[in-house]
Amino acid sequence: TRPSAKRRVSIFGATGSIGQNTIDLIARDLEAYEVVALTGARNIAQLAADARRLSARIAVTAEEGLLPELRAALEGSGVQAAAGEAALLEAADMPADWIMSAIVGAAGLAPGFRALRHGTTLALANKESLVTAGPLLMAEARKYGATILPVDSEHSAVFQALVGEDMATVERIIITASGGGLRDWPESALATATPADAGAHPNWDMGQRITIDSASMFNKAMELIETKEFFGVPAAMIEAVVHPQSLIHALVGFNDGALMAHLGPPDMRHAIGYALHHPDRTHLPVARLDLAQIATLEFHAPSPTRYPALQIAREVMETGGKSGCVFNAAKEIALDGFLAGQIGFMDMSGIVSATLDAMSSDNSLSIAPVGLEDVLQTDQIARDMALDQIRSRIEQPKA
Ligand code: NAD
Ligand code: MG
Repeated sequence: TRPSAKRRVSIFGATGSIGQNTIDLIARDLEAYEVVALTGARNIAQLAADARRLSARIAVTAEEGLLPELRAALEGSGVQAAAGEAALLEAADMPADWIMSAIVGAAGLAPGFRALRHGTTLALANKESLVTAGPLLMAEARKYGATILPVDSEHSAVFQALVGEDMATVERIIITASGGGLRDWPESALATATPADAGAHPNWDMGQRITIDSASMFNKAMELIETKEFFGVPAAMIEAVVHPQSLIHALVGFNDGALMAHLGPPDMRHAIGYALHHPDRTHLPVARLDLAQIATLEFHAPSPTRYPALQIAREVMETGGKSGCVFNAAKEIALDGFLAGQIGFMDMSGIVSATLDAMSSDNSLSIAPVGLEDVLQTDQIARDMALDQIRSRIEQPKA
């Protein structure tokens, strides 16, 4: 350890919602940190401004073609500029004590995977990493003595509820769901929802993709799988419950009947800050709950017809192997199709199911991927299959 030195931190996906919340916390105490790498994609102005403000060593855009723009934006700052997938991996090789993994989608997998080789602490917001390659990622961390800390609010909540507990006494893990932006719509109207309708969240301020995934509960579906992979518990022990206030993030049930709930305001800076300061707790600039004013916490079971993604996640957890990777890839393509106006809101789950079905015909889905390359290859095949599903629906609309 380097007791008196500054903590070296890198942020992958620095320009996004999680990245900006992470920067908010770090910028409050810049004396304590040495910022190594910040990465983004298309928002070059934000990336360059933050890299200057935090005196980062390097700023990397995933978009190769934007290197000249990034270079120009960083001119005279002393911050290096780089671009492209290989540059992202090189940034993951740069020594850092703490790395935030907050790229959205399966694109976040390879840089996080690479960072683990250096025995770093990886704060994992990128849930797609665990959904697509959970066992490989956890094994990689064990192999190199790296630490993965959960940043998804539900998983941070479970993690905190488990401090000092024996996993053998855990009976169940319950994660909560807000119900998303369309929760008050009649189910019959969901098919007509637009990206703008589904992209407004009642409680959380997040990136566009995860916000729409909240409305469809693909987000909760991914989080069920994430729970299984991160905490190593069987699917049957994991539940999701709708809790419209989003104040309880998760509960852990023990064999003596006790339920340990984690409450907090819907502000990602709590989970990010917990991972940043772990194993300590430190003052964080989040609102304090006034329980008397809140007065009521509600819960109800999620409707399987309104949220078919939850059942698909159950099947994925049963199948294991490559099914999580296929599930995630198909979901990303289905979401792209919905955003592009090619398919309806309720078609997304149909695309994901059909892709899983198409790829399970030779029974290879349950076979575990042998390495990262295998995962990335499966991801690509699943994307192509999901695109085929979308095309066939566009050509032959349902009667
Ligand atoms: P966002 O869309 O706001 O930001 C995504 C970041 O990834 C940006 O920095 C963007 O430049 C970068 N990026 C996009 N495509 C990329 C690519 N192909 N290659 C490299 N970088 C790319 O997303 P977000 O809401 O901050 O979510 C980030 C991750 O954290 C997701 O996995 C999400 O599921 C997870 N998460 C987010 C929240 C939240 O509150 N926003 C909560 C829990 C988990
Ligand atoms: Mg979450």
